[in-house]
Amino acid sequence: MYVFQYAADLSRYTSMAPHTSVGFVPTMGALHAGHLALIRRAVAAGDLATASIFVNPTQFNDPEDLRKYPRTPEADVSILAKAGCHAVLMPSVEEVYPAGGQSYEFSFGHLETVMEGAFRPGHFKGVAQVVARLLDMVRPQRLYMGQKDFQQTAIVAEMLRQLNSSTQLIVAETVRETDGLAMSSRNVRLSPEFRAAAPVIYQCLLDAKRLYPEMDAAAITARAMQKMESAGLRPEYFEIVDGRTLLPVGNPRQADFVVACTAAWAGDVRLIDNVVLRAAG
Ligand code: AMP
Repeated sequence: MYVFQYAADLSRYTSMAPHTSVGFVPTMGALHAGHLALIRRAVAAGDLATASIFVNPTQFNDPEDLRKYPRTPEADVSILAKAGCHAVLMPSVEEVYPAGGQSYEFSFGHLETVMEGAFRPGHFKGVAQVVARLLDMVRPQRLYMGQKDFQQTAIVAEMLRQLNSSTQLIVAETVRETDGLAMSSRNVRLSPEFRAAAPVIYQCLLDAKRLYPEMDAAAITARAMQKMESAGLRPEYFEIVDGRTLLPVGNPRQADFVVACTAAWAGDVRLIDNVVLRAAG
């Protein structure tokens, strides 16, 4: 595996590789099995599997969260190589955002103001900005992202549409710990008590899957918020939404793609997760 600091060096390597497609997995590092599943998916598709590690300052609305974000670059490089990754780009902030460089302006309407957008103002503008820049630098045919960040995948799909991009977005299933907790780089920051309590998030999502649509969305939400609070978490939202519009489902009989999404604080660590209640047919 090759490690590149500069996009120009990566693109020289890419142009000489025998592969006909580049499969790109953008990450912020502190890698776990969820990230590696995306890399393996790219390898299995025959892509030149290319990861990036870049802790993007523009998507952190909370400076403390940015400061505390785990950084493990040496371990990351070694596990990427073991997973069969071909190349990794580890650019500096200056290379991603050069002074006087092109800046992207997207408008995502309510996609960026509901759920995560409501609690993390500006977050998705930062996400779209960095993904657009990284796509410019890596020029992949396929972009692999995790369902764990469901709203992010909706934003990126809309961004690709607005850019008229030919890059195909592939969304991969959430990889979980054996007790159901969604893998996340932030999990290492959980205290033993909150690590023990955190699987309640997935349990509430599974409850929703079991109860919907016989129980209405408001009752499921109230039950889930209560269950998370009883476990010592501080839930921010629990919403049952249309998977395309991200708006609360109106008539359950008419919605063919329904997702339950939630965010909760476990101590000072903010966790998100979601489960598809009804898959698009
Ligand atoms: P991050 O490093 O958190 O920005 O995540 C990089 C990519 O990995 C994003 O597309 C995430 O959705 C994806 N990802 C993170 N956690 C998981 C997981 N548990 N399962 C699958 N994909 C994940």
